[in-house]
Amino acid sequence: MSRHYDLIAIGGGSGGIAAAEAAAKLGKKVAIIEGARLGGTCVNNGCVPKKIMWYAANLAHAVADAGSFGIDVQRGDTDWHKLISGREKYISDINQYWDRYVQKTNIEHITGYANFVDAHSVKVDGVIYSAEHIVIATGGRPIVPPVPGAELGITSDGFFELQQQPKNVAVVGGGYIAVELGGVLNALGSAVIMFALEDCIMENFDTMISEVLSQEMQAQGIKINTGCEVSGLTEDESGITVMTKEGHSVSGFDAVIWAVGRTPNTRQLNLEAAGVAMQSNGMVPVDDYQNANVTGIYAVGDVTARMPLTPVAIAAGRKLAERIFNPAYQGKQGGPKVDYENIPSVVFSHPPIGTIGLQEQEARARYEKVSVYKTEFTPMRYALAEHGSRTAMKLICAGEEEKVVGIHIIGDNADEMLQGFSVAVKMGATKADFDGTVAIHPTSSEELVTLKIADREVHDVDAGNEWKQVC
Ligand SMILES: Cc1cc2nc3c(=O)[nH]c(=O)nc-3n(C[C@H](O)[C@H](O)[C@H](O)COP(=O)(O)OP(=O)(O)OC[C@H]3O[C@@H](n4cnc5c(N)ncnc54)[C@H](O)[C@@H]3O)c2cc1C
Repeated sequence: MSRHYDLIAIGGGSGGIAAAEAAAKLGKKVAIIEGARLGGTCVNNGCVPKKIMWYAANLAHAVADAGSFGIDVQRGDTDWHKLISGREKYISDINQYWDRYVQKTNIEHITGYANFVDAHSVKVDGVIYSAEHIVIATGGRPIVPPVPGAELGITSDGFFELQQQPKNVAVVGGGYIAVELGGVLNALGSAVIMFALEDCIMENFDTMISEVLSQEMQAQGIKINTGCEVSGLTEDESGITVMTKEGHSVSGFDAVIWAVGRTPNTRQLNLEAAGVAMQSNGMVPVDDYQNANVTGIYAVGDVTARMPLTPVAIAAGRKLAERIFNPAYQGKQGGPKVDYENIPSVVFSHPPIGTIGLQEQEARARYEKVSVYKTEFTPMRYALAEHGSRTAMKLICAGEEEKVVGIHIIGDNADEMLQGFSVAVKMGATKADFDGTVAIHPTSSEELVTLKIADREVHDVDAGNEWKQVC
């Protein structure tokens, strides 16, 4: 059999499968090279197992509130083994689905790790495969910081391998993976302490999100230490001790989770052999059409310095294959490409976060006139409960016409709320369009279409005013 293809995708995760699938649908000869299980990070140690754990955590929260609705249930221990084995069965079904799917669609699945031989060929276990077009879709892996005792900790990959529920957990990091895993473990009954380098958790999000999440997580019993750098780990009979550069140490952990960022899987690819440029952080720079600096070589997904999200990797892979192979675009400039503006994203914290577009500070830097509508309330879901989890929303509008340029939500169901509102933002909706939409009652999302002038703050450079409450 010829080992020459129209397209080879290195990496069988979200981006690689999407590119291969789209090329195969256009009748091309395609191979995916994957060193681990098909599905990549999202299926095997990212979105999917994380969301299963998040659902379990949500149920635990619901059980805690059930009594106030007159439903007599008692919360016992979490049957970790049952939860994990159910989750792994679900993932293995998805792996099998992909195995069958690539066969059915005539995509050749080459098992192993690839590295470049030259601009049109790669080597896997000593065998050379060549292609007109090669897509680098090798994703990333968690960073373990080079501190003494680092090996005593685990990463998010290790979290998904835990066979027993840890009772006392340190989560090192303040980003989305840290708050998601910390929230899940706390809800399932572990004691959680977070150590974040930054001055607040979720530093890259709108300040409202960061503040509300921090308060809600602490109200649930999670201890959050900010502004501290973990300098090492040690272990004795009482468990693992976390030491910080600031001179603090906390002992007695049975798990420490490093959630300090991810690094791209590019250094093992021998990119130099193909002449492909790489940034100092290992990312592959690409143009708007996913082209790397060498003709016929592309990169999609987490190896590019773009938003590291599954749907982004999928969109990039699909559009790339369409652009290369669809006769409608042959010999023409341009073609399909991902619009990286206004990509919605969700964090599965407790409560969850949904966000799209500009943050308040970004909007103020970009536009002369910015209006910000804010609201905060306790959803009806907690009407009878002893403790309620808050919801906070911010709508950011620009110009006289009040075009909606940012939406930030934290609160129950923010994850499901955001998708539809993202369509409106993408279409250029204004505050008046939101106002003109009849609310769905009683819901939390209705608050986004009923924000009043009293909820507004305006910043207008032309009028020479600073932020002021308009009411
Ligand atoms: C804990 C966690 C939670 C997440 N939650 C979400 C979420 O809720 N929503 C969301 O949108 N995104 C989420 N993500 C991010 C999402 O998983 C990634 O953005 C997405 O998987 C990127 O797809 P990709 O194709 O670029 O890379 P990946 O899915 O990582 O696939 C890369 C594949 O390449 C393989 N590979 C690497 N090197 C080689 C080589 N040399 N040869 C052959 N194969 C190779 C790897 O084994 C891997 O299977 C999460 C990530 C993590 C870690």
